[in-house]
Amino acid sequence: MKGATVMKGSSTSKRPLKKSAKFTEVQETLLKEGAAIYVDKKGVESLYIDFPYHVNYVHSYAQDSPFFLGLAEGKLRGTRCEPCKYTWATPRTHCQFCGEPTKWVELPLQGKVHSWTTCHYGSEAFLKETPYNLVIVEFEGANSVLLSRLKACTEEQIYVGMPIVAKFASEPKYLITDVWFEPAPGALKG
Ligand SMILES: [Zn+2]
Repeated sequence: MKGATVMKGSSTSKRPLKKSAKFTEVQETLLKEGAAIYVDKKGVESLYIDFPYHVNYVHSYAQDSPFFLGLAEGKLRGTRCEPCKYTWATPRTHCQFCGEPTKWVELPLQGKVHSWTTCHYGSEAFLKETPYNLVIVEFEGANSVLLSRLKACTEEQIYVGMPIVAKFASEPKYLITDVWFEPAPGALKG
C-alpha cells in the first residue's frame, strides 16, 4: 500500500521528502515505500510513512466448529431442529423457533442459485479476485440459504435456479473461504 493513497480526495497536497544530510539513506528507502510530506490548507507539513502492521487474532469458532472442520473434509454441514422440521444451511446451534439445541446434518454438495451479486470491491482477502460473484445458495431439503462465492463463470452467465456445486480448498485454512461454488456440469447456457 502506497502512502500516497492515504490522503486521496483530501484537501492536502503532496510533496517529496525534504533532503536531510543525516537521513539521506533512510529517506531513499522511505520514498520507495510511498512516504511523503503532506501539506494541509494552513501550510502545516506532516510526514507520512508506510509500515507493515501485523496482528495475530486468536478466534474460537466454539459451537460452530463442526461447520469449519467439515469444510476441510469436503462436507457442508447445516443444522436441523427435528421438532420444528427446519434445516438451516447457515448453521444455528439453537432453533430460532423453539430455542432447543439443533443437530448437525450434512447438506448436499449441489445447490441452486437463489440470488447473486458481483462485487467490484472487497476486503483485503478478496482484492486479488475482484471483481467476484457472491451467491446465495439453495439446497434440496434445507429451509435457509448459504452465502458463498461463485467461480468459473462470468456475471452474465449466472441465472436464478442455476445448478452449482461446492468446491473445497485442497489446503484448508478453516475459514469460510475454504468453500466456494462453481457451475454444475451442463449448467452454463449457450
Ligand atoms: Zn425448533
